[in-house]
Amino acid sequence: MTLEQRLNQLKEDLNRYAYHYYVLDESLISDAEYDQLYQELLAIEKDHPEWVTMDSPSQRVGDQLLDGFQKVEHATPLYSLTNAFNREDLASFIQRVENQTTDSVTYLCECKIDGLAVALTYENGQFVRGASRGDGQVGEDITQNLRTISAIPLKLRKAVSGEFRGEAYLPKERFLALNKEREEAGKIPLANPRNAAAGALRQLDPKVARHRQLSVFMYGVADPESLAIQTQAGLFETLEELGLRNNHLRRECHNLDQVWSYIQEIGQKRHDLPYEIDGVVVKVNQMATQSKLGYTVKAPRWAIAYKFPAEVAQTTILAVEWTVGRTGVVTPTAVMEPVQLAGTTVQRASLHNIDLIQALDIRLKDQVLIHKAGDIIPEISKVLLDQRPSDSKPLEIPNHCPDCQSSLERPDGEVALRCMNPNCPAQVLALATHFVSRQAMNIEGLGEKVVAVLLEKGLIHNVADLYYLDEADFLTLDKVKEKSAQNYTRAIQASKSNSLERLIFALGIRHVGAKVAQVLARSFKTMEAFMAASLEELTSIEGVGPMIASSIHHYFGQEDSQKLLASLKQAGVNMTYLDQSAEFAQVDKEFWQGKRIVLTGSLSYYSRKEAKDLIEHLGGQVTSSVSKQTDCVIYGDSPGSKYDKALQLGVDTMDEAHFIAKLAESGVNYEEESQ
Ligand code: AMP
Ligand code: ZN
Repeated sequence: MTLEQRLNQLKEDLNRYAYHYYVLDESLISDAEYDQLYQELLAIEKDHPEWVTMDSPSQRVGDQLLDGFQKVEHATPLYSLTNAFNREDLASFIQRVENQTTDSVTYLCECKIDGLAVALTYENGQFVRGASRGDGQVGEDITQNLRTISAIPLKLRKAVSGEFRGEAYLPKERFLALNKEREEAGKIPLANPRNAAAGALRQLDPKVARHRQLSVFMYGVADPESLAIQTQAGLFETLEELGLRNNHLRRECHNLDQVWSYIQEIGQKRHDLPYEIDGVVVKVNQMATQSKLGYTVKAPRWAIAYKFPAEVAQTTILAVEWTVGRTGVVTPTAVMEPVQLAGTTVQRASLHNIDLIQALDIRLKDQVLIHKAGDIIPEISKVLLDQRPSDSKPLEIPNHCPDCQSSLERPDGEVALRCMNPNCPAQVLALATHFVSRQAMNIEGLGEKVVAVLLEKGLIHNVADLYYLDEADFLTLDKVKEKSAQNYTRAIQASKSNSLERLIFALGIRHVGAKVAQVLARSFKTMEAFMAASLEELTSIEGVGPMIASSIHHYFGQEDSQKLLASLKQAGVNMTYLDQSAEFAQVDKEFWQGKRIVLTGSLSYYSRKEAKDLIEHLGGQVTSSVSKQTDCVIYGDSPGSKYDKALQLGVDTMDEAHFIAKLAESGVNYEEESQ
């Protein structure tokens, strides 16, 4: 095979893997394998820039900053939708449709994705332009930002032309992760997934859009006739054939009762969906009837959007707690009278920072309204001022660290209050807890409680000291017997041979998350090279921006950090990048190898993401829907329809306890106290 043929093959393979991963929600290969092939492609393209084509996976993000967005006129307008708020509204919609036509009609019900409308233009199968909705007639050309969305194919699976419509959105999990990052960086959190998605697409730097990791669900085409599409349901078949990601929770209904029961069902499970929806769109299924019904100035007469009632609850503020994180950021949390909200009992809500406290003017004993941002995070939206007790006083903002009492600072440009004392016990504890956690050094059995005692007793002062502990030290702790002392020391010793990326992440350098640590470890191979890297060298790495680079420089510039690393090295902690696959090599993968697993219900020991990662590491695949091909459905509390479907199809099921036992057989042990 010539080098050029190899490149073409890589391109094709990588695009296919991405299609399976991002569009079909199933992975054909591991992240590490994907990455290896991607690096090979980059290397060839670097030597042969003349071979780079627009549909190469390397072309998802350009280096160029945009200087603005061009206007784009849509082929046909992107309409808004008429709203329905109850069953009666839907009844009159159906009545109107059926009065206006003699055709026999059915209704296709779809989830109303809470993101923003985009129009994607393909010419002969190539993605040529993407636009926002704008005022419906004219939108903005946001092609460069849309290209960063992996779920948008750069090339369709057939060489057709057309303008396809859909919704770009931010998955809930990604929203949570981004806000965690922002909180750590002392930045204002994103309000909700929808704003975050809109913000991403309006960025002039496509790298920002890429970092957010949006996705899309497509649901329309400007000119259905040109593709011989006759029904709304048929439209989805076409989208599927073309490789355009679409939402499978749709259903054809024949009458109001069926529409209403679909809405009830979706309403039940909406909080468990990995993306936010704000309603259900009901569309006349037959395109010919759609054309006959036509449009008002604003909206189609053949569709209506049922909106779920906003979920809010009222409760009382009992206290505000201030806690110190591992980077010294001091965050306020409201403690409230427990209340039911969108499927869970809520009693705590982060207040994020003092700006927010002051903007809302929250006080003790206040009555507040709360909602869930991104359907997940409880957030206070409003203080009911007319119900405020007359003796109420503004909340006191601390001047001193709640833990070490040193005075708090508010660095320029940050909204966060910060304890600047590097020896602050709360910070040291938070950092050490992070260090031992599963994603970091993965020191089994050692969690916050034990680490706290070790610090308290002065057995350790920093994370490097862990490596100098012996069994006798652990035996001085309350209730620790020989067996567990052995286990602790063994686990600590074992973590010495971790690959470099774990150590980099474990250090807790601001802005250096697990993913960035991975990229850094792979680029530099040794801690020495990493520590010596210049700002230019750091920023030349894909995924490492100036903020990360300067944070790394700042970290290594400190004497304490250098001492810590010297001490870790002295203890024999591995400082080099090891081959990815080595880590799990000793584990018995057999059970999970090639298994197709579906997760449902709420797991109490692992987050969905953790469970998924573990299964994938062990060679299994996690898919989102249950079919005859599914090997096993793992279920937690209140499992949903996936569990029922598994029973129907006779697919094996496993509860969480069995799951944990199975993992243990494969050599993965649950660590009770981590994180
Ligand atoms: P609204 O913004 O409330 O007028 O609702 C119209 C918007 O709903 C459209 O512009 C789309 O962005 C969005 N939408 C989300 N999901 C769908 C869907 N399945 N079908 C049509 N529109 C949808
Ligand atoms: Zn402090």
